[in-house]
Amino acid sequence: MTAVTGTRAPAPAVEAPTRSARRRSEPAAALDRPTVSFELFPPRDLDAAPRLWSTVRELEAAEPDFVSVTYGASGRTRQTTRALVTRLLRETTLNPIAHLTCVGTSRAEVATIVEEFLDEGVRSFLALRGDPPAGQADWQPHPDGVDTAAGLVELLREIEHRRCAGSPAQAVRARVRPLSVAVAAFPRGNHATGGTRQQDVQALLAKQEAGADFAITQVFFDAEAYLGLVAEARRAGVTIPIVPGIIPTTDPARLLRVQELTGVPVPRSLLELLGSVDDPAERHRRGIRASVDLVDGVLDGGAPGVHVYTFNRHEAALDLLEGADLRGSRATPGTSHPTTSTEPAGDPAAGPTTTPRGNPS
Ligand SMILES: Cc1cc2nc3c(=O)[nH]c(=O)nc-3n(C[C@H](O)[C@H](O)[C@H](O)COP(=O)(O)OP(=O)(O)OC[C@H]3O[C@@H](n4cnc5c(N)ncnc54)[C@H](O)[C@@H]3O)c2cc1C
Repeated sequence: MTAVTGTRAPAPAVEAPTRSARRRSEPAAALDRPTVSFELFPPRDLDAAPRLWSTVRELEAAEPDFVSVTYGASGRTRQTTRALVTRLLRETTLNPIAHLTCVGTSRAEVATIVEEFLDEGVRSFLALRGDPPAGQADWQPHPDGVDTAAGLVELLREIEHRRCAGSPAQAVRARVRPLSVAVAAFPRGNHATGGTRQQDVQALLAKQEAGADFAITQVFFDAEAYLGLVAEARRAGVTIPIVPGIIPTTDPARLLRVQELTGVPVPRSLLELLGSVDDPAERHRRGIRASVDLVDGVLDGGAPGVHVYTFNRHEAALDLLEGADLRGSRATPGTSHPTTSTEPAGDPAAGPTTTPRGNPS
């Protein structure tokens, strides 16, 4: 490995002001307001998913800092992820981050994929290891593969360094639009890999040392899980921002599916709260209230912002932002409506990252 990333000084840890302090300083609020971002997943056929596009437009009006686009397990959605990210870049004001996984793929193939994204003008990645295919007992890692997310971060930095070294024009453009690399973090350890929180904090430290800029967490349901991860990560030397990933908890069926796929247990009290009411609008209100409490808990604890898992639906995501007082200035409050549907917009191909193996339904 080259020392491309070795020259990067670790970013100083920034202790965020409490939320109430933030609310007091109005002039700074516009710049200092918590970041807001959304996760989308690519439909199988982008052109045949008009509802996804209307969701994109609704989310765009909330002025998010970025949107991330998932990558199907084993690279299944390589083309559609790229197509959606590229379209977001060209046709919207959004700042897309492309998820990218490396498990089971040769190093040369991963490098080609990275080059394809960079050639399209993509400058932001969420570097992930990904999960081996489910149910294949004889599955073997690629003999010349990239085995960890930290290895992928390093490869991304290497490729960027090579491109800049080979072209002064690209080097200038890279100064103007630097490559940004995010990584995953797991508030209660990665259940999918059997990793404990301690192991995942070590993995997070390795990702930071490889050149990661910030982290986004797996779903969780209590602020303490997130705050505990951050405290443990800081003690271990992790200084990069850790953005909490938040799921709007309005749909009990979806929550149970998320639990099944991630192994992150949904609190019984939350399921009872949602399950004990028949009126969909009231259930939606209760779910949003619970999610707003979670968002308030993490922001009060110093979280830099929130990354909302949208499941390609805007209603609950925007109601959550509204309740948490996080909507952008252009957004019109009260335009979203509760929904009872569990169907994601479009045809799910990559799935939200709360479903690591890629199919939410
Ligand atoms: C925000 C987010 C987005 C996601 N998006 C997608 C997606 O789009 N597509 C998809 O297929 N999956 C996605 N996932 C799932 C993710 O790919 C899996 O959870 C995968 O199992 C782990 O990925 P990782 O990037 O954390 O891997 P790694 O950091 O490489 O970790 C993998 C395992 O190795 C261990 N490990 C690695 N390095 C070290 C070290 N130095 N010391 C100790 N232990 C170590 C870790 O503890 C862990 O158990 C996402 C997850 C999150 C949280």
